[in-house]
Amino acid sequence: MKSIKDKFPDIPDRISGLGELAYNLWWSWHPQARMLFKMLDRQAWKESVHNPVKMLKELPREILESAVKDSEYLNYYDGVMARFHEDITTKVCWFLENVIDSTCLPIAYFSAEYGLHRSLPFYAGGLGFLAGDYLKECSDLGVPVVAVGFMYPEGYLRQKIRVDGWQEDIDEVLDRDDAPIQRIFNEKGEQLIVRVPFIDPPIFVTVWKVAVGRVSLYLIDTDIDINDPWNRSIAYHLYIGDIEQRLRQEIVLGIGGSEVLNTLGIRHSVLHLNEGHCAFALLERIRGRIEEGMSFEKASEQVRATSVFTTHTPVPAGHDVFPFHLMDKYFSHYYPLLGLGRDDFLQLGTHPEYPAAGFNMTAFSLRMSYYHNGVSRRHGEVSRHMWQLLWPDKKEEDVPIDSITNGIHVPTWVEPKIELLFNKYLGPDWLKDHDNSVIWERIDDIPDEELWQIHYWLKMKLINFVREQARRRWLENRVSPFNIIASGTLIDPTALTIGFARRFASYKRTDLIFHDLGRLKKLLNHRWRPLQIIFAGKAHPSDDDGKRILQRIFNFTHDPEMGGRIAFVENYDEQLAQYMVHGVDLWLNNPVPPLEACGTSGMKASLNGVPHLSILDGWWIEGFNGKNGWAFSGGGDDQDADAIYTLLENEIVPLYYKVDDKGIPRDWVKVMKEAIKSIGPIFSARRMAKEYVQKFYKNALKSAM
Ligand SMILES: *Cc1c(COP(=O)(O)O)cnc(C)c1O
Repeated sequence: MKSIKDKFPDIPDRISGLGELAYNLWWSWHPQARMLFKMLDRQAWKESVHNPVKMLKELPREILESAVKDSEYLNYYDGVMARFHEDITTKVCWFLENVIDSTCLPIAYFSAEYGLHRSLPFYAGGLGFLAGDYLKECSDLGVPVVAVGFMYPEGYLRQKIRVDGWQEDIDEVLDRDDAPIQRIFNEKGEQLIVRVPFIDPPIFVTVWKVAVGRVSLYLIDTDIDINDPWNRSIAYHLYIGDIEQRLRQEIVLGIGGSEVLNTLGIRHSVLHLNEGHCAFALLERIRGRIEEGMSFEKASEQVRATSVFTTHTPVPAGHDVFPFHLMDKYFSHYYPLLGLGRDDFLQLGTHPEYPAAGFNMTAFSLRMSYYHNGVSRRHGEVSRHMWQLLWPDKKEEDVPIDSITNGIHVPTWVEPKIELLFNKYLGPDWLKDHDNSVIWERIDDIPDEELWQIHYWLKMKLINFVREQARRRWLENRVSPFNIIASGTLIDPTALTIGFARRFASYKRTDLIFHDLGRLKKLLNHRWRPLQIIFAGKAHPSDDDGKRILQRIFNFTHDPEMGGRIAFVENYDEQLAQYMVHGVDLWLNNPVPPLEACGTSGMKASLNGVPHLSILDGWWIEGFNGKNGWAFSGGGDDQDADAIYTLLENEIVPLYYKVDDKGIPRDWVKVMKEAIKSIGPIFSARRMAKEYVQKFYKNALKSAM
């Protein structure tokens, strides 16, 4: 077994804590900790793409030794390490002070994806970032969570756009030994291998641990030698299209994940499912109780009373449904273990309206858990409407699906320079109490010049990043000059810049702003008040519709009539998201309502003073207050596009370019400030995590006692 020390033989003892710190993502949301790595060698930090494990492994011994001779560095090191140890061991935390004053068994949190950091590509989009942000916040609040997910060695995909605008999906294999994840060993010091119970022929998994502050996330990996190739590939990619492999993926996550926790000796009190992909974990909880002698009724009652299910999907077609013949293939020897016959078992997952369609993971999750929620107020309504059938004797408004609106982890998404500005004007402790709206009133004390100057600096940073990416592709791949223009080299730092970055799912209508080309070109090419738009986003590898929309946009980027004012930046990931939500002037969002269950990127932008221009859907229905951005209600493509052009022409563009004699757009800055202070406290993961605890965990924990 290799300890952290063995992994970094070149780190001198005096600063050996760097190794421990590198393996805890705590560094990712503490700028001082990131600085500790950056100070060693700026270039190496950049080349590692901000991954301290990779950097420390590659750094020459001399650099580490010279750090030990630098008293300033050592001072800084001691400060950060003290704070780190204090944070991950302290017993003083919100959870223990406000919820339960003794230790309890942890809440097991299951999710198919986690968006935590650019060095861990285990996410596709919003669902993953929600889960990642949630774990970080649970660590901050001391909520005892243990999390389970998948290790996807090929991540999602690396996006490369061909000259003709078609997206190529390049698999990039993650070097597990270079990532901030640790192998789990058994007591003999060998890599732990767990067999997914009751599946024949057998599937084996191994396990990796990601330390997220005080929270441990266990990642299941099927890519090991003793599995045959079909089994090895179960977790190669997120959301496999092949239905049988998809079922096997969910069996491994739910049933295998439960077995992993058992094997590690981790008992849990409450189960929280982030979307239905992991719902088979409910079966294992029930089966375990039946094994101890309970009846199915009693066992399922107990499991219900201690299980939480968060649904994220606002359309019937978005839920996983598995055909019965596949359920038979994998579960026919499982039914008896629950004391159920085939029909009774399959009944647990049928949709009342389409009982023959198959085993519906959402219907199953709703039936077998007591606490359920949608992810915004609107999505709660949509979910109650969609699932009323499961509660035929209740009126729609009484259907027991609550809502808890998503929020973002503020320390992760606040840009460090903005954080310093808040330290200065909100007080150095603002972050400790950041879901308290009163603190944010002081945003008004920030001088306009100071906020505007930092914003401009962040915009330059984004533009430089975009240009560097373009330069690198030009050098390395010798792509066509078209692609270089397309990737944003003509972007002008003084022009009003819209950001639009999200998955290329059709309902997001990424190309809506091209609806009336004449009107758009007028806005783009205005002589004194030009507009420009930076796009980013990936289409799912099997989504040709999404790829066609992307291609359409890409072809506009190098249409000379667009004047080089449309850019498409490749490979949207967590890092690019950070640059974009900090550096553009306006964040645009125009999905087909009510399909954006919540949306979170607009929160990330608003927190950093980038106002949101959005259709009234998802969180924006709650977030928009008339002064903190712009809104329009949905009425189809024609009407929605018209609403966007009209707002841009009449309000947004004039406001942005109305500057005083110092060059400051005072009224625009007012909107920026209003966005920060109205959105920062409310749409935070802190407010969200407290709601999960107060509404659900508190009662579920009581039932678990
Ligand atoms: C925040 C985030 C998302 C989710 O944003 P939406 O507003 O839900 O589209 C997706 N991808 C990345 C990289 C993000 O940072």
